[in-house]
Amino acid sequence: MSPQWIIVILLIAVVYFIFIKKRPAIRQNKKDSTKKKDKEEVESNDMVECEECGIYCEIDDTILSNNKYYCSQECLKKS
Ligand SMILES: [Zn+2]
Repeated sequence: MSPQWIIVILLIAVVYFIFIKKRPAIRQNKKDSTKKKDKEEVESNDMVECEECGIYCEIDDTILSNNKYYCSQECLKKS
């Protein structure tokens, strides 16, 4: 075996070892952050149409009733 091969194999072993060793932590952090991000996006960025007046509101500001979104209590009562 030539020295070059030994270096290559060592490099692969080191990279593999680091990857395997760090993977769970990276995975966990990534999972947590993605989960958080998704939640934030759903809470703040999703626009839904009011069933009664047709106004688009952020999902945070709407009232969900019978799987329909309403922009306000007034629209909810009207329907
Ligand atoms: Zn409305």
